[in-house]
Amino acid sequence: MELNKFYIGKVGELILKGSNIKLFERQLVKNTQGYLRGLNVKVRLNSGRLYIECVDEACERVEYALNHLIGITGWAEAVVVEKNIEAIKQEVLNEALKARDNGAKTFKLESRRSDKSFPLDHYGICSEGAELAYKQKILGVNVKNPDVVIMVEVREKCFVYSNRTKGRRGLPVGVSGKGLLLLSGGLDSPVAGYRMLRRGMTIDALYFHAYPYTSDEAREKVEHLAEILSQYGLRIHINTIPFTEVQMQIKKKSPESYTTLMLRLCMMKAANMLAERIGASCLITGESLGQVASQTIENMACTESMAEFPLLRPLVGTDKEEIVEIAKEIGTYETSILPYEDCCVLFSPRHPVLRSTVEEAQKIYESLEVDDLVREAYEKREIKLYEV
Ligand code: ATP
Ligand code: MG
Repeated sequence: MELNKFYIGKVGELILKGSNIKLFERQLVKNTQGYLRGLNVKVRLNSGRLYIECVDEACERVEYALNHLIGITGWAEAVVVEKNIEAIKQEVLNEALKARDNGAKTFKLESRRSDKSFPLDHYGICSEGAELAYKQKILGVNVKNPDVVIMVEVREKCFVYSNRTKGRRGLPVGVSGKGLLLLSGGLDSPVAGYRMLRRGMTIDALYFHAYPYTSDEAREKVEHLAEILSQYGLRIHINTIPFTEVQMQIKKKSPESYTTLMLRLCMMKAANMLAERIGASCLITGESLGQVASQTIENMACTESMAEFPLLRPLVGTDKEEIVEIAKEIGTYETSILPYEDCCVLFSPRHPVLRSTVEEAQKIYESLEVDDLVREAYEKREIKLYEV
């Protein structure tokens, strides 16, 4: 079947990456193909443009891919025309007619010419290209605030398109190593994971489940969040570690005000083991400075003292409103606000310590004698894979 549909994406930051550029480009193409497995498509990248050719039936999936793919600043469905100004004029006219049917009143023509052998320059393409559409009074011209921008790109081929959709920007997932995301059911950690995906990191997730104090629904909720993140990260393993016994031990042995902090320390211990095992080079949490008692700078220092890997907190300087905005944009919000709690009041101290010292936290941790339980819990982890 003929590949009659054509999409063009604009590659983002890669341009800045000097000698690594080939590696980055290859990853971006590979990721794009990852969304399109089993479909009749051709994916290519050349001079900062990602090209996808496909059959009609694949369009929906291709658009899904372009809407989720990290590493492009924008995309559009394009028409390939012959490399001469008459063909360009005709296609600009078609685009203008389409736009008018969709309610547009004004347009602006933009162009880019990277094929310098083409006889017209940017100005020539713009003024001549718009001629038919303008003379036939299809749309008025408005360069400041047009209803539609029609774009002509003269490259290896000539492309005409309008209505560019914004891309997700960032670096292609897979170029920045792997991180282990501590994923709970709240709003923050999925957003933290997304932020690191956008810096090119591959992510696996870790969830601590305290059945029956936290319900099956709480676990399903976290799994669903991992599934949503896999739409951007392509492949995400979620590891669930049963932490009930560890929590009981903390409750039994720790001063009440320290229980939450001790739980965080135990989580770090288990996370170290898993990170080592899966070849992750950092841990990621959704912590944000001052958000809750365990997230004062002093208590964060205590948590961090247990981490054997760099502990990344991409949301540390972000406020709740900004986090909510991103959660809505990436589609985790509705799931995150479901009521199933990921921690139980039974284990929440009434007066949590606000500013522990690292020494005090370590001392209390030692007195819990919880290392063996943490290891046993880690050994019992269950793994699920979500893929686009
Ligand atoms: P979130 O919105 O991500 O749940 P939060 O504001 O509720 O965060 P805390 O509950 O203090 O904050 O958790 C801080 C961070 O610790 C979370 O962002 C997450 O990375 C990690 N974390 C907390 N609970 C769990 C859990 N049950 N499993 C895995 N990670 C967890
Ligand atoms: Mg939480």
